[in-house]
Amino acid sequence: MELGRGRLLRLTLMGGQARVFLCDTTGMAQEARDIHNASNTCSAAMGRMIAATAMMGVNLKSDGDRITATINGGGPAGPLCAVAGPDGAVKVTIEHPEVELKLKANGKLDVGGVLGRDGQLTIMRSYGFGEPYLGKVQLVSGEIAEDFAMYYLESEQTPTLCALGTLVGENIISSGGILIQAMPECSEQLLDQLEIRAELFGSISQLLSEMSLEEIVENCFRGLEPEILESMPLKLECDCSRPKIEQVILSMGADEIRDLIREQNGCEVTCHFCRKHYMFTGSELEALVEEGLSGSDE
Ligand SMILES: [Zn+2]
Repeated sequence: MELGRGRLLRLTLMGGQARVFLCDTTGMAQEARDIHNASNTCSAAMGRMIAATAMMGVNLKSDGDRITATINGGGPAGPLCAVAGPDGAVKVTIEHPEVELKLKANGKLDVGGVLGRDGQLTIMRSYGFGEPYLGKVQLVSGEIAEDFAMYYLESEQTPTLCALGTLVGENIISSGGILIQAMPECSEQLLDQLEIRAELFGSISQLLSEMSLEEIVENCFRGLEPEILESMPLKLECDCSRPKIEQVILSMGADEIRDLIREQNGCEVTCHFCRKHYMFTGSELEALVEEGLSGSDE
């Protein structure tokens, strides 16, 4: 998969009794690993988070809507945060991407260990206008998939099966996820069938390394009348810009900015998501303060 790119399928089962999101976000996980120079375990954490938020973001209605998901589990890697929009754009950051732990007894990367399990998954839905909607659940395991499944169940009363996986070698071998949601009219038979097949999805990263998304659908949902409604592109993309960074600086207040001018004759701001550097000279900051103040009621 091309660097920074991914793809998502939206489908239904049994005439709409369940809906499914399935995504391959390998190229996005690789770019996130490169940007943040992340350890294997932090790469897996970001890879899973990218897939989880991408599948949530594509359900948003309008262009300016955003999902911001944050896992704050008290682990050594610090908070993990991702933002996704309805256009398939996702950005991700983790506070200490270099943190590494030894493999778990089962040979898997210890994502729950680096993120910690004592805390919450917070989902903020922001719309172009009005107050954002905030939902929170206690972390189940810090392994991300179970935490999102709990969020869907508790906050949205939707029984959800969620599997996320990132296979890490020297590079990202595969990364992605699947989300299956039972609709209110879902039959017992379909629920039973999904329960039986859930084990297949436990190794979603393995499936993604071997098959295309369409092949996974064909293999995993045989007999359940899968109907693919849409295939859409995903991308890792940051929407930071100089004007946005200027707003962040202005929000510090005039006194703080004047201190920066006096003490270091300028400042450098680094975007947490894409690690891009923005430089401001003392005179640029001065102009910003002047402009900012004239724009307000002071
Ligand atoms: Zn950025």
